[in-house]
Amino acid sequence: MSRFAQDRRVIFFEEPLPGETASLEVRQDAKSEVTIVTPKLPDGLSHERRNAELTRLLTGLLAERGVERPIVWYYTPMMLEFSRPVAETAAAVVYDCMDELSNFKFAPDSLKQLERDLVGLADVVFTGGYSLYEAKRGWHANIHPFPSSVDKAHFAQARSMSTAQDPADQAALPHPRFGFYGVIDERMDLDLLAKLADAHPEWSIVMVGPVVKIDPADLPKRANIHYLGGKTYAELPFYLGGWDVAMAPFAINESTRFISPTKTPEYLCGGKPVVSTAIVDVKRHYGELEAVRVADTHAEFIIECESALALGLSSTTSWRQAVDEALADLSWDTTYARMATLVEEAAVRKSQTAAKAAANPVVAGPAVHSAGRRSHYDVLIVGAGFAGSVIAERLAVGSNKRVLLIDRRPHVAGNAFDVHDEAGVLIHQYGPHIFHTNSDEIVRYLSRFTGWRTYEHRVLASVDGKLVPIPINRTTLNVLYGLNLTTDEEAANFLAARAEPTAQIRTSEDVVVAAVGRELYEKFFRGYTRKQWGVDPSELDRSVTSRVPTRTNTDDRYFGDSFQAMPKLGFTHMFGNMLDHKNITIQTETEFAEVKDDVLYDQLVFSGPVDEFFDHRFGPLPYRSLKFEHRTLDQEQFQQVAVVNYPHPDTPYTRISEYKHLTGQKHPKTSISYEYPSAVGDPYYPIPNAEAQALYKRYEALALARQDVTFVGRLATYRYYNMDQVVGQALATYRKILEVGDRAVSSRDVTEAARA
Ligand code: FAD
Ligand code: UDP
Repeated sequence: MSRFAQDRRVIFFEEPLPGETASLEVRQDAKSEVTIVTPKLPDGLSHERRNAELTRLLTGLLAERGVERPIVWYYTPMMLEFSRPVAETAAAVVYDCMDELSNFKFAPDSLKQLERDLVGLADVVFTGGYSLYEAKRGWHANIHPFPSSVDKAHFAQARSMSTAQDPADQAALPHPRFGFYGVIDERMDLDLLAKLADAHPEWSIVMVGPVVKIDPADLPKRANIHYLGGKTYAELPFYLGGWDVAMAPFAINESTRFISPTKTPEYLCGGKPVVSTAIVDVKRHYGELEAVRVADTHAEFIIECESALALGLSSTTSWRQAVDEALADLSWDTTYARMATLVEEAAVRKSQTAAKAAANPVVAGPAVHSAGRRSHYDVLIVGAGFAGSVIAERLAVGSNKRVLLIDRRPHVAGNAFDVHDEAGVLIHQYGPHIFHTNSDEIVRYLSRFTGWRTYEHRVLASVDGKLVPIPINRTTLNVLYGLNLTTDEEAANFLAARAEPTAQIRTSEDVVVAAVGRELYEKFFRGYTRKQWGVDPSELDRSVTSRVPTRTNTDDRYFGDSFQAMPKLGFTHMFGNMLDHKNITIQTETEFAEVKDDVLYDQLVFSGPVDEFFDHRFGPLPYRSLKFEHRTLDQEQFQQVAVVNYPHPDTPYTRISEYKHLTGQKHPKTSISYEYPSAVGDPYYPIPNAEAQALYKRYEALALARQDVTFVGRLATYRYYNMDQVVGQALATYRKILEVGDRAVSSRDVTEAARA
C-alpha cells in the first residue's frame, strides 16, 4: 500500500476498535503517504447498528475527502458487510485474498457467503500464494497469484549486524538460537516447540510475536523457550540477525493449508538457514534450496534443525549463493507494478463496459459527449501504438496541448501490447516484440517511462530435423553439415563456394542466394518467406531478407544492435507511464470514423492505415496479417529459446514463441504462440515490393497535400519499421509539428504587429 500511495491516494480503513462514540481516528503513516483510518464504535451495538454506523463513517469519510468512485481493495470479505454501497459503485473492486480465512479459528459463519459476494463484485482477485491460487482459480476469470515478496534491504541488515545491535531482551540468551517471528496463534505447532526444547535443552528457542486467539497458558513453558512478545517491523532484522537458525514451526492443518509465509524469504534475506514444517508453498518455492529444510514429522524437524545449525556454522558459502540467486527476482516493486497494471486494466475495462451499457449509440467512449457538448481538444490522435502514444506524450508534456488519443482496440500499446493471460503469464498478444536499437536518443527517451531488462534475442530454426541458429552462422553450418569449421575464414570459404553472386541484388531471393547459395536459401528462407508474405522472395524487395544477416562467427544473437532489452515491466506498463498525464484523454474501442464529427480539434495525427484514411480511393494497399494461436502449457518451459522458426513449407505456421524467455517471468506454467500468416485480418505488415510502393506513392501524395493532418507510424507511412524506428519517426514528427507551429505563430505575430 505504501507503494500504491506514491501514485494514488491510499486510505487504509482498519477494523473497528472500542470508543466512546462512533467516530474515526485518522492518522498519517509515519513512513509513507498512506492515511490510516481506525473507526471507533461504542460497545453494545447490535450487529446491524454496528454495520450501519460503519457505512455512515466510511461514506462520510469519502464524501469529505471528495472521493467519488474509489478503487476498493479488500483484505477481508468481512468488511463487505458495511462497505457494499461503496463497492457497488466503485471504479474497481480488488479482492486480495491473503489466506483461506474461513479455516481460521473463530471465523464467523457469514464469512463464506460474504466471500462469494465479494468475488462476484470483484473486478480482479489476487491470491497470496500459489496454493491458494490453485484452490481458488475457478472462482474468477481475472485471478492472479502473488506469492510473498520481500523487502530485501530491510532484512539484509540482519547479515551485517554486530553483537552490540542484538536487542536487549535477546542479548543474554545463549547460542545456538533458533528463532521464529510472526503471530503466535492456532497455526503454531505448540507440541513441536515443546519437543524441540526438550530434545536440546542447550538451545535457545526465541519466539518473537504477539500471542493471538490462543490462551497464553497453553504455550509450552520451558527454561529454554523465550517468548519476547510483538516487535515492530523495524526491529525484526535485529532479532533475526542474532539467531543461528530461523524456523517456521507451523502445525499442518486446515488453517495452514494455503499459507505462503512471507517470513521464509525474509529469513533467507537475513542470511539464515530455515527449518519449516511441510507447508506446501514453502516446499514449492524454496524446498530445493540447501538452506531450506522442510520436515514432515516432529522427529525430522529436530534433525533438520541440527543440520541447519551445522550448515550455518560451516564455512561453505554455496548455500548462500543459491539463496541469493533464488531471491534475485523477488521485489515488492515488481509485485506492486504488476498489481498496479492489473488493477488499472480492470478499472479501464469496467469503465468501458459501463460506458457501453450507458448505450450512447454514436460514441463508444465516456469522455467525449459529456453534458451533450462537443469537447474540444488541441489534437486528436488516432492510434495508441508507439507512433500515436509518443506524439501524445510529447504534445501533452512538451507543448502543454490537450490531446485525445483514440484506438479501435480495447487497449493502448498497439501491436506491442502485452498482457497477463488467464494463467498469469505475461504474453505479447500480437506476437513477440523485442526492443533493439542503435540510437541513444531513443533509449534515453523511452527510459523516462521504463526500466530495462537486458535481453539478447536468440532464434533457432527447425531445419532437417535439427534446431540450428538463425541468422546462419558457423554453428549452423557445423551442425547442419557435420563440419568442424573453426575460424571465420573457413566458414567464409565454405559459404563462398556455394554463394551465387549476382551483378545486381534486387530481390529478397538475390540477397540470400548471393550470400549463402541456393541450398541454404531454400532450407531457411524460401519456404518461410512464401508463408510469411504470401509471395515468393523473388517478388519482394531486397530489404526484407536483408534484415537477417549471414555470419561467419559463432555470434548467435538475432540482432546486432548496441542496445537490446525489454521494458522491465512490459510494454503496456511502459505505455501506461508514457500516457499518464492530465492533458491526455484516452479512449479505447473507439473508431476514428465514430468520433471525427463529434469532437472538436485543431490538429489531427493519424497512425492508422493511410489507404483507409482516404477511403481506399485508389484501391486497398496490400498488408500481410497474422493469426495467433496462444496456448498455455502445464510445464515450466517449452523450448530452449524465445522463438523457434519453422521454415519448411509443409508446416503451416512460421514460428513458435515462448514469452517467458523474453520477460524473465518465473511461473510454473508457460505460454506460447503459433503464428499463421494470413492475407486477411488486421494489417500488420506493409508489403515491401515495387507494386505496393507505387500504390502507396499515390496515397502519399494525398497525405502530403493535407496540411491539417500528420501521418505517422508503420501503417500511415506504409513502412516496414521496427519499434525503435517508429519512435524515432514520431519524435522527428513532433519536432516538425513544433516548427510548423512556431512558424504559424510568428507569421501571425508579424501580421498583427503590422496591423498595429
Ligand atoms: P501500431 O502498433 O499498429 O498502432 C496503430 C494503432 O492504430 C493500432 O493499435 C490500431 O488499432 C489503431 N488504429 C488504426 N486505425 C484506426 C482507426 N481508424 N481508428 C482507431 N484506431 C485505429 N518491432 C520491433 O522493434 N521488434 C520486434 O521484435 C517486432 N516484432 C514484431 C512482431 C510482429 C508479429 C509484428 C506485427 C510487428 C513487430 N514489430 C517489431 C513491429 C512493431 O510492432 C511496430 O514497429 C510498431 O508496433 C508500430 O507502431 P505504430 O504505432 O506505427 O503501429
Ligand atoms: N526470414 C526467413 N527465414 C527465417 C527468418 C526470416 O525467410 O528463419 C525472412 C522472412 O522473409 C522474414 C524476413 O526474413 O519476413 C525478415 O525477418 P525478421 O525476423 O526481421 O521479420 P519480423 O518478424 O521482425 O518482421
